[in-house]
This record gives sequence, C-alpha cells and structure tokens, in this order.
Amino acid sequence: MAKRDFYEVLGVQKNASQDEIKKAYRKQALKYHPDRNPGDKEAEEKFKEAAEAYEILSDAQKRQRYDQFGHAGLGGAAGGSGHFTNVEDIFSHFGDIFSDFGFGGFGGFGSSRSRGGQRVNKGSNLRVKVILNLEEIAKGAEKKLKLNKYVACDECGGSGARSRDGYSTCSTCNGSGHVTRIANTMLGRMQTSSPCPTCEGEGKILKDRCLKCHGEGIVKGEDIVKINIPAGVGEGMQLNVAGKGNAARRGGINGDLLVLIEEEKHPELIRDGNDLIYLLYLSVPQAALGDTVEIPTIEGKVKIKIEPGTQPGKILRLRGKGLPEVNGYGKGDLLVNINVWIPRKLNKDEQKVIEKLNESDNFKPSPGSAEKGFFDRMRNYFEQ
Ligand SMILES: [Zn+2]
Ligand SMILES: [Zn+2]
Repeated sequence: MAKRDFYEVLGVQKNASQDEIKKAYRKQALKYHPDRNPGDKEAEEKFKEAAEAYEILSDAQKRQRYDQFGHAGLGGAAGGSGHFTNVEDIFSHFGDIFSDFGFGGFGGFGSSRSRGGQRVNKGSNLRVKVILNLEEIAKGAEKKLKLNKYVACDECGGSGARSRDGYSTCSTCNGSGHVTRIANTMLGRMQTSSPCPTCEGEGKILKDRCLKCHGEGIVKGEDIVKINIPAGVGEGMQLNVAGKGNAARRGGINGDLLVLIEEEKHPELIRDGNDLIYLLYLSVPQAALGDTVEIPTIEGKVKIKIEPGTQPGKILRLRGKGLPEVNGYGKGDLLVNINVWIPRKLNKDEQKVIEKLNESDNFKPSPGSAEKGFFDRMRNYFEQ
C-alpha cells in the first residue's frame, strides 16, 4: 500500500509550526490510542502511522529531507517504512507527549513504560452493567457500585515484598528493564533493545515475597465505587472511569472501570433519540368536542388541551419535554401521538346514537382534508 503523505496523516498544512504538528499528533494519538480501541487493528495501524509521521515532521532535519524528496528521501534507517512495529516502541519514543498531556480519562497514557524505561504493570479493565430508568437518564444519576475485583494487598501495601528491602536491582539489566545488543550486519552496526529476560522488564527482582499475596501485590477483594452518570446517556453507551478497574501487580497502574449503560423501558413513554413519544388515546366524544387531558412526562403529569375536531394521527409537540443531549446542549421534545379509541362492542342505546350520527353528512369522512394533514404531519416527523 502506498504511504500516505505525513502532513495529510496529521491533518496539518505544509507550513505548520512545530507546535501545530505536536498538537495535531496528540489529537491523532488520542483518537487511535490502543487503550481506547482495544483489539482494533485498524486503529493500531493509524496510531503507528501518526507516530511515524510525527517522528519525521517533529525533527527539523528529517522534515526538510521529506519536504524535498518525499518518502524516498528518508530511506530505511531514518524512519522509513514500518518503522514502528509495535505500540510499545511508540510509548518509549513519545511517552512524554502523553505524560504532559494531563488527560485524566485514560489511565493507560504513557503508562506502559515509565520514563526510565522499566515496564510498569497495568491492572486489567473491569466491565460492569448499570441499568437506568428514563427518570435517571433525564437527570443524570449517581450510582454506588459494589465490585469484586483485585485490590492492592493490605499486608505489603501492594508492593508484593514482605520487607522494605524485599527487592534487589536486577543485575542483568542494572535496573533499566531492557537489554541492548549491538550486532554487525550487512547494513552496518545495528542496535536493538528488548525487555530484560531476567526481570521481565521490571528492573528489579523480588527476593522476599509477601506471604499474603505470594508476591503479587494484589488480592481478591471488594470495592465500592461511586460514579456519576451524566444526563442523556443511552442504551449501549460506555463510560470509562479511569483507575477504578483491577489493581495492578506490584504497585502498577490500576485498570479502568468500563460502565455499560442499559436502559430500562418506561411503561408509558417511548424513547426516540432525545425525543419521547407518548401514544394518547382519546374517546370519540373527546376528539370531537375537545377536552383537557392529563399525560405523563418525565417530570410528572401535565395537562394538555385537546382542540374540538382533533383528528387521529395528529402529533402535539411539547418542546423541551424530552431528554437532554448527553453533551449538555439542548433537550429533545415530547411528541404526543393522538389516536381515537373506537369501542369494540356497542350496547343497544349506543348503537342507536351511532346510527343517528351516521345519518349526518357531517360525520362522513372527507379524506381530502383530514388525511392530507395527517400524511403531511407524518412526513414532517419522519423527515426531520
Ligand atoms: Zn502482599
Ligand atoms: Zn533485568
């Protein structure tokens, strides 16, 4: 596949400043960050592509060469094709760009490696389902969740060591967490770096294990987490609560709590995006004579006026009586969809009255006026 233009990858102009390039890269990295797109291969490729573009464009010399000669000007060694083969490389290169980002929502940013290069354990994410009714969705809700999860071992404070000096520096890597090899190849001297096999990248060796957690630093436990769910959420949405997932081994970084929203069906109101729909049945006399009727809304009952001669299929729109937009701007409407109830069986007296009405020309349907309005209204509703 042909390589995309680096400026295009980051979405910046050819004359973009270093600051603009940095900002644009952060934006891309955020969007395609593996923590946000677990298991998504395409996002991972985009994440790598952006890192590669940033590596070149953030370096004045490489950028100049690229401007002059394009991808061909970079060659293999200078960050050419497939430079970043894995995401870990990107963190070790550009970890700083994430760490000075101050982004609280995602625990994983730059945390796979510390600045020193040692591997830092990350706890796994925890998934829970929260069921909300429409009233809670309209107002937003605070929920207390009791979670069974891995928590830091209270015996060793999460370190996994029984004593203060339970760890010793790994002698294979001298505590750096990785080993560097230099090999002479046909292409010249190549330097490769890989995680230290002795300490598995931690930089230290546990000598004196905590007896309660067997050196893991975590134990199964219970935690009560209070979360605030914003108003306007919907079925299938997921909230990410950073750091409230499983604790990590040996004092690493906690996983996140992923809260999946499930919506409880309302007995009377139907949700359509941010709008709510209510099916209102009127009796034949109510529709013909007009009336004041009570209908349910999310904030309780309200009275609405029915004009004399109201047709079935008419939709009354109560502005702002729907659900709030999840980002906090605007509110949906309540659509009252009017139906007219026809009795299924009539007694003798009723039969006589209806037959009497049937003699009146005024009771004959005139679809030209009634249904045209109905179809227009339905069209308006479905087309908006
Ligand atoms: Zn312990
Ligand atoms: Zn080591």
